[in-house]
Amino acid sequence: MGELNIAPLSSWGLKKKRPLIISGPCSAESEEQVIETAKGLADKGIDILRAGIWKPRTRPGSFEGLGRIALPWLKKAGEIIGKPIAVEVATREHVFDCLKAGVDILWVGARTTANPFSVQEIADALEGADVPVIVKNPVNPDLQLWIGAIERINRAGITRIGALHRGFSTYDKSKYRNKPMWEIPIELRRLYPQIPMFNDPSHISGNRELIAPVAQKALDLDFDGLMIESHWMPDKAWSDASQQVTPDRLGEIISGLIIREEKPEITTNELDQLRSKIDRLDNEVIEILAERMDIARKIGEFKKSKNMTILQSGRWDDIVHDRVQKGTAKKLTEEFIMELFESIHTESIRHQTAIMND
Ligand code: PEP
Ligand code: MN
Repeated sequence: MGELNIAPLSSWGLKKKRPLIISGPCSAESEEQVIETAKGLADKGIDILRAGIWKPRTRPGSFEGLGRIALPWLKKAGEIIGKPIAVEVATREHVFDCLKAGVDILWVGARTTANPFSVQEIADALEGADVPVIVKNPVNPDLQLWIGAIERINRAGITRIGALHRGFSTYDKSKYRNKPMWEIPIELRRLYPQIPMFNDPSHISGNRELIAPVAQKALDLDFDGLMIESHWMPDKAWSDASQQVTPDRLGEIISGLIIREEKPEITTNELDQLRSKIDRLDNEVIEILAERMDIARKIGEFKKSKNMTILQSGRWDDIVHDRVQKGTAKKLTEEFIMELFESIHTESIRHQTAIMND
């Protein structure tokens, strides 16, 4: 895995520490809308003013942003409230326009992160520039693609890089517009603890009601900051109307957040004891799983000798029903039991396949 050279968040020149708040409209729609939204945000504890100027839209015919004429409006709005500004870039020209207009922070959108050619084009345009860049996760749940985009930007000499978690597209229905799949940003943080991590509860939620709980969860997972869309008249917004909030509501959301800290230095006796119980149980889980796989291999030998298929779908169906019933009776979620046993089953098939091909 490539080495990353990442500068700490303190080098971004922002006054506050945690959580940093990036807010502003999904899209810049008029000079008045950008400036009035910014004025509304001025005393709400935001650190960076955002607006989309070029909007990647799923289907043609939707509002695609006003383009570079909107850059001076955002610049002016940032100056009025004394905050740095951030804009999404998706092409080389966007980067050049933003750097020329004095945009302070750039971000790469989710659709762009999914395309290495586009990310490389942006990285090439950034050579020699000294601007922080925030890389949103790709629309698909692929951590390597997200890391790859960060690497490309980093190799262009940009060290002030942040990662922004905005959830993932899935075909199945969920209460979220983009499923959070928190395990993906958690794994990114495990691999690269030095990368500042932001969360975008607006694009995860897709509606106003879920923004506060998603933001709180992100803070409880030790994210450094939040990007939340706001608009002076959210219901009239030209894009993402249902997830934008007024500056006043944003102020309420921010002041309602509980800021907890990681506090690794606090290890009380009680916490130590609970953790050692967890360690002991995890060891038992590993022993039990290893024993289960020993049996799976014996079953593999038997199936091989009888020329039977590895997958016996009736048996697997029985297991699923039985384990879900027993697990939910013990207050484990059905989702967890399914994930756990699918994973155990996959491992079991791996062992049996090895036997079959022996
Ligand atoms: C946005 O921030 O307005 C945006 C387009 O987000 P994403 O790239 O996460 O869809
Ligand atoms: Mn948006």
